[in-house]
Amino acid sequence: MTFGKSRFADRGKQAEDAVSEALARWAQDRPDREFTRLLDTRAAGRVVKSAAADYEFFTVGQHGLIEVKQTEHEYRLERSKVPQLPRMRKRELAGGLCLVLVYHSTLDLWRVMHVRDLMTFGDKGSWNLTGHLTYRSAAEALGSTGDLFSSLLETQSRLVYCHYCRKHKPGEGFIRLRHPTNSTVRFRCPTCQEVRTDPEARAKRERHDVEVRKGQQATRTLLAAEAKERKRKPT
Ligand SMILES: [Zn+2]
Repeated sequence: MTFGKSRFADRGKQAEDAVSEALARWAQDRPDREFTRLLDTRAAGRVVKSAAADYEFFTVGQHGLIEVKQTEHEYRLERSKVPQLPRMRKRELAGGLCLVLVYHSTLDLWRVMHVRDLMTFGDKGSWNLTGHLTYRSAAEALGSTGDLFSSLLETQSRLVYCHYCRKHKPGEGFIRLRHPTNSTVRFRCPTCQEVRTDPEARAKRERHDVEVRKGQQATRTLLAAEAKERKRKPT
């Protein structure tokens, strides 16, 4: 039987290959460790009950699921991209370690979330992941979750996303802040902390921001004009 090649078939393949490689390394030379790549839910859904996640793994006294997502967004993940969440939650309640690994393709960085963390927050149909650390590889993201995958941590190259300058930087000297009303977690880098306390640096930053906003506004106006033009003269 052929499933027909979906135009979505290759979306996320890069991310899944990286996770397969990390799990293969995890299970290598370890007779007590096993992982399975579950059938692609997009293809299987029409024929058999879709899989609970992309991977499941087993080892002595422990088991779990891993779902892999690839997105171009730098810090958001659409809820609709993880329809398996309730089933993963069920497996988690049964004692599994259930993780969602997100590959941000435009940044070439990874984040990892426990399913239980994704049950409790989110807005407008997506999760804001700025409160989660970013990693340079799937292996490191997995390794960060604790003892089970710690053998995958070869080097520490932890990067943290600064909500204020919107950059990823090495994780030293960051402060963690909680938004007073919506309680989202944010990180502020050492440079941005300095800017907050030094009036001169702050004035400089504000002047810079005004320029950036002007540029963005000009781009938006241009795009809107182009869209309007296209509407008027359909090709
Ligand atoms: Zn910053």
